[in-house]
Amino acid sequence: MQNRNVLISGAGIAGTALAYWLRRHGFRPTVVERASALREGGYKIDVRGAALDVISRAGVLDAVRAQRTDVQGGSIVNAAGKRVTTMDGDTFGGRAGHDAEILRGDLNRILYDLTVEGADGAADGVEYLFGDSIASATETAEGIEVVFDSGAQRVFDLLVGAAGLHSQTRALVFGPEERFLRDLGYYVSIYSVPNHLGLDRWELTYVSPRRTALTYSTAKDTGAKAMFLFASEPLEYERHDVSQQKKLLAEAYAGESWEVPRLLAALDEAPDFYFDSLSQAHLDHWSKGRTVLVGDSVYCASPASGQGTSLALVGAYVLAGELAAAGGDHRAGFAGYERAMRRFAEENQKLGPSNIKHMVLRTKRQISVQLTVLSLLGRLPGKERMMAKVMEPIQKAANSITLKDY
Ligand SMILES: Cc1cc2nc3c(=O)[nH]c(=O)nc-3n(C[C@H](O)[C@H](O)[C@H](O)COP(=O)(O)OP(=O)(O)OC[C@H]3O[C@@H](n4cnc5c(N)ncnc54)[C@H](O)[C@@H]3O)c2cc1C
Repeated sequence: MQNRNVLISGAGIAGTALAYWLRRHGFRPTVVERASALREGGYKIDVRGAALDVISRAGVLDAVRAQRTDVQGGSIVNAAGKRVTTMDGDTFGGRAGHDAEILRGDLNRILYDLTVEGADGAADGVEYLFGDSIASATETAEGIEVVFDSGAQRVFDLLVGAAGLHSQTRALVFGPEERFLRDLGYYVSIYSVPNHLGLDRWELTYVSPRRTALTYSTAKDTGAKAMFLFASEPLEYERHDVSQQKKLLAEAYAGESWEVPRLLAALDEAPDFYFDSLSQAHLDHWSKGRTVLVGDSVYCASPASGQGTSLALVGAYVLAGELAAAGGDHRAGFAGYERAMRRFAEENQKLGPSNIKHMVLRTKRQISVQLTVLSLLGRLPGKERMMAKVMEPIQKAANSITLKDY
């Protein structure tokens, strides 16, 4: 049963990592990706805890380290741009030990390269269908009949939804997303901007009531990135209407000081604009028949958790491993995957709502208290020990799974 055909929807972190592990266990994966090519570039993400072990077992830990963002530090600034407190890059980014920060697109490329022909000494690579998507999926006794948007029709043994927070596969097989997504009450936006502040692997964060703005440059960027996080009631917008979302962002930050007007001025030209609610996915069951979900589509912890990529990497490893351990039997394999992963996913999901409260502050008083504490902390002896204490919850959650050797 091991050489089963598996269709994976989505060539993001979860999808490419799963394709790699499935093929290594002798399955035959095909990946369908809506974008016309692998989505590169993007924001910086951390790989930590058990996910580092997964990357290491895939043999690409050095490749990931070689592509690190190398951000040296960060400062919190006031409205006039004065640096109120400054920390080293790892402390500012909540990293410890061997944690690695890399651009999401670079990690995606490393994983993809592992799966294509010739990589890893493999005779045949994973099949990728770019620029297509699943229109319908019907389960029969023999498999899953899939019709693609392009009109092509094929039958697969198994289907994996790995298409992120707004997964189409989840909608087709499990139901509308309103049933599974929990809105945390915030929005996030990120896009490329000119590096008009001349940042060199540095991050600046400005905190104002209910809205935070930051900009950073990495070793991999010639320009810089702007990122916005703001508290808001649910906003009505069309998910594919980028100009509407740009307008909403500009409205949310209207009248804001610091460098915000200049960062917003780059909106029109932004080639890689990203906007979404901070939401989590919670499902009672992660599989249905021959279909299973992995990554953000099933246990999205939200960007505020800092753990989405790590969860995607670990989930892909465990899903492929459990399927292999079950000899390809999907009922046993899917059940084993959920049993091994659910508590780990839930521990990391808890980080989202608690972290965001420190990332977006509600009142001027809260901001002033936080800035005073941080600037004092920066000057105290033993500050590293105190920061390690602050980072304990994320490290604990990131390591709250013991990986099996499959
Ligand atoms: C601003 C920001 C900061 C973040 N910071 C961190 C961090 O510090 N650490 C961390 O671990 N995580 C972070 N994350 C989260 C992280 O990026 C995701 O959690 C992670 O990439 C999840 O991977 P995924 O493969 O499930 O989904 P995605 O990476 O979203 O991939 C989904 C893929 O599916 C494709 N797709 C979508 N719809 C379809 C369709 N209908 N058919 C076919 N393909 C489709 C998409 O094009 C995409 O390629 C952050 C996210 C954001 C937005």
